[in-house]
Amino acid sequence: MSDTGSQPAHQAGRSLDPHLGRYAARTAGMTASEIRALFAVASRPEVVSLAGGMPYLSALPLESLAADVGQLMASEGLTALQYGSAQGTVELREQICEVMALEGITAHPDDVVVTVGSQMGLDMVTRVFCDPGDVVLAEAPSYVGALGTFSAYQAQVVHVEMDDAGLVPEALRQALAAVTASGRRVKFLYTIPNFQNPAGVTLSVQRRAEILEICAQHDVLVVEDNPYGLLGFDGQTYPALRSADPTNVVYLGSFSKTFAPGLRVGWVLAPHAVREKLVLAAESATLCPPAFTQAVVSRYLSQHDWKGQIKTYREAYRERRDATLAAMEQQLPAGCTWTKPEGGFYVWLTVPEGLDTKAMLPRAVTQRVAYVPGTAFYADSFGSRQMRLSYCYPTPERIREGVRRLAAVLEGELEL
Ligand code: PMP
Repeated sequence: MSDTGSQPAHQAGRSLDPHLGRYAARTAGMTASEIRALFAVASRPEVVSLAGGMPYLSALPLESLAADVGQLMASEGLTALQYGSAQGTVELREQICEVMALEGITAHPDDVVVTVGSQMGLDMVTRVFCDPGDVVLAEAPSYVGALGTFSAYQAQVVHVEMDDAGLVPEALRQALAAVTASGRRVKFLYTIPNFQNPAGVTLSVQRRAEILEICAQHDVLVVEDNPYGLLGFDGQTYPALRSADPTNVVYLGSFSKTFAPGLRVGWVLAPHAVREKLVLAAESATLCPPAFTQAVVSRYLSQHDWKGQIKTYREAYRERRDATLAAMEQQLPAGCTWTKPEGGFYVWLTVPEGLDTKAMLPRAVTQRVAYVPGTAFYADSFGSRQMRLSYCYPTPERIREGVRRLAAVLEGELEL
């Protein structure tokens, strides 16, 4: 019975949640992501959404994939529909090692744990390493989904400055010193070195070694999140942090951007002892990752030209990036600055002083364009003059129209 008399509990819940006193303390850190709230609006057909990071799946050969799935059912259905190992199938873990070799990683399939997307990897790593109040260092800005996970485990995020060459080593030293001086413990550095989400920048090769050295010196683990590394527009790849330091880096990978996110197949590569803990964490969360989608990915990797598919994606995204940057150059008002991504999905835009990207979002949506306000990518209140624009999904024509609408919104704001 609800405390509002005869009102049904589900209606009473809208104003006062009758379960409020029951929730675990950690739920205080579980808040709805700004992106989720945007999804409903941004997916209306009249809105040009530069908000979500949805891959351009129309580039996939759906008919031949459908045939593959049919054959998979006929030949391996009984294993593909059965429970499997908590760590993932051996076949897929071996294939994952071949994928990682493209970025200089030498790894043993035993040290790979297959996850339900790399988001689950983030959850497992945070669960295994973070107690409430522990500090996680992350780039400023950082991936909204990771910030949500850190907050759900009551870890505190301390942002570290980033510039066009990625995380700034000196800022990392200062952050480590400041956190240690405040008596708190840094559990890991969370970094997205390639085509970063949301900033679109890439960590320079020189800085990679320096950052690894600083973290090793301070006994701080590195969590390297790399879903975009194979999406460099010139086919360029950068050496993974993990390739230079197999003992102090936990690496997160995903097939979401190189194949398809709906399959929810990602992985963690971890030093052996950490891998043991991650398997236990995975087991308690899901028993085992889906055998079916693992089999689909394995078959895709063994029978399709997956490298050719990645090239197709890269070309589509390069065309969209070019359309975005050209339209921004032509249309955005003076005082706007933005990053120049060499791969991945995102541009990070800074608008003129005095404007607030979160406050102006409802007006942008009225003018049928959506983006994600910069504040979503900070655990503190920074980012009010920034926004993330994703060019991965709309066609170049839609992008040009979206940037034109955005420019009109910004002009309107400047006149207010
Ligand atoms: N990390 C980063 C940096 C991402 O951008 C994303 C997806 N947007 C993820 C992790 C989660 O990806 P997945 O679909 O593999 O869970």
